[in-house]
Amino acid sequence: MPAATPAPGETGRVTIDLGAIARNWQALAAHVAPAACAAVVKADAYGLGAKPVVRTLRAAGCETFFVATAREADDILPVAEDTTIYVLNGLVSDSASHIAELGVVPVLSTLDDIRTWHDEARARNTRLRAVLHVDSGLNRLGLSPGDVALLSDTLDRLAGIDVVLNMSHLASADTPEAPENAAQLTAFRSALLKLPPAPASLAASDGLMLGRDFHFDLVRPGYALYGGQAVQGRHTPVEPTVTVTSKVLQVRALKPGDTVGYGASYCAAKPMRLAIVSAGYADGVPRAASAATNEAGGAVAINGIKAAIVGRVSMDLIAVDVTHMAQDDVAPGSDVELIGPVMALDDVGAGAGTIGYEILTRLSRRFECVYLDWDSD
Ligand SMILES: *Cc1c(COP(=O)(O)O)cnc(C)c1O
Repeated sequence: MPAATPAPGETGRVTIDLGAIARNWQALAAHVAPAACAAVVKADAYGLGAKPVVRTLRAAGCETFFVATAREADDILPVAEDTTIYVLNGLVSDSASHIAELGVVPVLSTLDDIRTWHDEARARNTRLRAVLHVDSGLNRLGLSPGDVALLSDTLDRLAGIDVVLNMSHLASADTPEAPENAAQLTAFRSALLKLPPAPASLAASDGLMLGRDFHFDLVRPGYALYGGQAVQGRHTPVEPTVTVTSKVLQVRALKPGDTVGYGASYCAAKPMRLAIVSAGYADGVPRAASAATNEAGGAVAINGIKAAIVGRVSMDLIAVDVTHMAQDDVAPGSDVELIGPVMALDDVGAGAGTIGYEILTRLSRRFECVYLDWDSD
């Protein structure tokens, strides 16, 4: 990636490679063809900016987007002409009329939502599109097997509703050998027999790597588009899209017995050199990446070499151990990689006891955000 000149006073930078996001979508679309490939852009495209991501993916050929809320749908509408937008969380807070007004398609997960949408269609004297979401074992959102049986006996509940997709969601797709995957596939297939005929969708980023049986008509990746590799030991055909860098502010020497940071949780056992870095939990470095003496925590990379976080992550700063680096390799002003070629997104999550998904959705809003544009030619 080209290095851009830092803005005066810039403490860090989030660089988002829209070209890589477009290539990832194209690679996943090719992997699942002839099934279609949507893009999940909820939570501001996992923190990367829903508008630029949707604009890019639409130009790359994506015709279907999933968001979680009506507000998120509203945000992307101006850049999503001639696409279909599905709203995963349905008709929360009396949003039926607003969602109908926007012309986007709610995902209906309860019989109450179906009734509300049916009433909305009748009140408007029109037909309205909807997705039916069945729960096949995740026990999160979705119609239960009992709801599906009842619905299939009383299909007039769907009068005025055009079901454009039947969907479900997998619990354990990040564990390919988990028996829940096959069980959910069977449960989804039997639900489909009872629902009005429509295209079907089961798989997200990890599910689409479980094989053709899981593809149905449409897959719904989010995380993989942004370069996530949630499954250990298996490679999804996508590349990283995000780098986050920050700066060394100071380098200091510690004597044995010196402690580091709030709560003095880290104590030097030997002479050490520390670099103080201008990134903290307000910049998306999780406080759970703190490392007390004898505990593992998160890390960063300086000049391509990993440096462990020591002591507590504070709001605006972290301290990292650079004892093993050459004097010349780290100085005030040195670049620090928080996420990038050395610090892979999923490893950064693991270093804080969480997942890369959470790291992405909490990226710094204080750092400069730079988009590398996609040249669609
Ligand atoms: C978030 C979400 C997705 C996308 O999941 P990824 O693991 O990010 O690919 C797909 N479907 C549903 C229902 C979701 O909530």
